Order: sequence, then C-alpha cells, then structure tokens
Amino acid sequence: MSESPSVVICPACESASGSLLYPSPTDFEGYATEYEGFSLWTCPECASLYLNPTPTATDTVHFYPADYMAKSKQPGIFRRLTGAWDARSAAGFVKRYGKDKTYLDFGCGDGSFVGLLRDAGAAEASGYDPMPKLAGSSHLRIYDQLDQIPVGSIDIVVMNNVVEHLTELDDTMRRIAALLTPDGTLVLSTPNAADFTFRLFGSLWGLLHFPYHTVVFTPRGIELAAARWGFDAPTFVPNADPSVWAFSFEHVIKKRFGLRTRGHLRIYWVLLIASFPFWAVDVIVHRVRRDVNRATFTCELTAIGPQRSASAPGSSAE
Ligand SMILES: [Zn+2]
Repeated sequence: MSESPSVVICPACESASGSLLYPSPTDFEGYATEYEGFSLWTCPECASLYLNPTPTATDTVHFYPADYMAKSKQPGIFRRLTGAWDARSAAGFVKRYGKDKTYLDFGCGDGSFVGLLRDAGAAEASGYDPMPKLAGSSHLRIYDQLDQIPVGSIDIVVMNNVVEHLTELDDTMRRIAALLTPDGTLVLSTPNAADFTFRLFGSLWGLLHFPYHTVVFTPRGIELAAARWGFDAPTFVPNADPSVWAFSFEHVIKKRFGLRTRGHLRIYWVLLIASFPFWAVDVIVHRVRRDVNRATFTCELTAIGPQRSASAPGSSAE
C-alpha cells in the first residue's frame, strides 16, 4: 500500500483542505481486509469523497475479489431487470447520438453493453477494459490496452460508473480526451456525493462502495476536474438510475443483522422492488426542483482540441 502523504489532495478539485470522514469504512460487497489502512475523506471545496491514501493500480488489484460484481452471482430476476434496463439505456444512447457514430464503452467488463449498442443499431461499437479476465466476448471488439485504440477515432466514449474506480485518474482522463474525434463526446455517469441520499444513509450509502470507489464526485467536482483533463464545461443530462435505494437498504440490513454475505443477499430482488416507490418519489422531487442530477449523475464532455492533440496515449493503461 502507498504511504499516506502529509498533504491530502482532493482528486477532483485538487484542494488540500479535505478532512477525514470515515476512518475505517466497511466493504459491504466483498468484506475483504486488503484495504485496511485506507480511510474516506471529504472535500470542503467541491464536496467530493475520496480514499486516503490514494490507492495505486496494484492496491486495487488486491481489492477486487475474482467474482467482483459477477452477473452469475445475481438472482435471475435481477439479471433480467438490469438486462432490460441496460438495453433501454443502450437504445437511448444510439437514439441520442446516432447509428453512424463510433462508440467505445470504457470499462466495458464482459462487453455486454457493447453488444447492446450493436443490437440497438450502432454501426461501430467496441469496448476497453484493463482486466482481460472480465473481457473477451469473442464476437465483440474488446481492447485491454488503451494504446491499441487510434487517437482521434472515437465519436462517443461511454463511461458508465467507471471514473470513480480509476487510480491514475488524471492520466486516464486525458488519454480518453485524446481518443475523441473533433466533435466527439465523453458521456460519463458516476455517483453523486452531493445527493441527499448520501446525507440520508451516510456510511451505509449504497454508492459509497468502499473501497472500490477511489473518488465519489459531485457535479461541482467534475466541473473543476474537466478543465484539468482537457474538456469543456460539462452539460448535465437527466439520469434516473434506481440502484441507490436497493443498495443502501441492503447495507442497512447487512449491518443491522450482522450479515457478512459477499455480493447481494438472496432477497436483493425484493429490496429492488420495495425500493421503487422511494425511487419514484425521488425522481418526482428532483423533477419539481428541476435538478437533473440524482444519486448518480450523467454529463457530456467535449474535448478541447489543442490539449487533446498534445496528449497522445502512451503505452500503459491505468
Ligand atoms: Zn474537491
């Protein structure tokens, strides 16, 4: 593990005024112990949350169990629900950005979303994931090295709940900016530490996802980081991801009953259904307040040309 530096820097806005929030959070997903020594900090400038010390790529290899978020562990009904949600999301992408665009799903896991983009009519869709054991669907183009992807070749980079997992954050984001065509867009979705659900659940908030999330941004945090990464100011678009409620209820139950079940509880699908009224009220309240950012937010980022052309990708992935 890397040594804790004397000055702790917010990965989003680079403020050095952060403070310790949770000294020893719980890993409700894997109950691993490899993360001992990492704590969760909060930034007074942008309200983002982040791990301290900053984990290295080597650290996070040890964080992740071999079956991390494996779809095979999920109940069948949950797989069907999330599959239907992802298919709807992929169709929405292709409808919004066009069938004639080149898509890259960054952090594509097993490549299922790449397949859904193709099913939705995208002529060119590929994926990138640095963990080859998760990638490799034979009929899809999946890269495991960033330098395999030509600079300036991608119209739409999809980054769905990935940026919060990165270790070499600034380097990776600058390299993504370099992959985009001149009119290209990065569509980034990530948990929102400024949402009221974080204040409601605190250390049991489902999207804290300690220690896998190295930084939990806020819209303000992304705004400040985007300029440093070589992007224009983000445009926030509506996001209706319902997962926060069921994840958080599951953490409350695990803690209340002292369960140390790795992955989801068998009753997760019950929690998912029970959470829909909360989700519906949540969506309505945000609509009334005209706030498009919920527990997860989505933004579109356009690369600024000169920085993009100056930062050709090197040989190392994150
Ligand atoms: Zn900050």
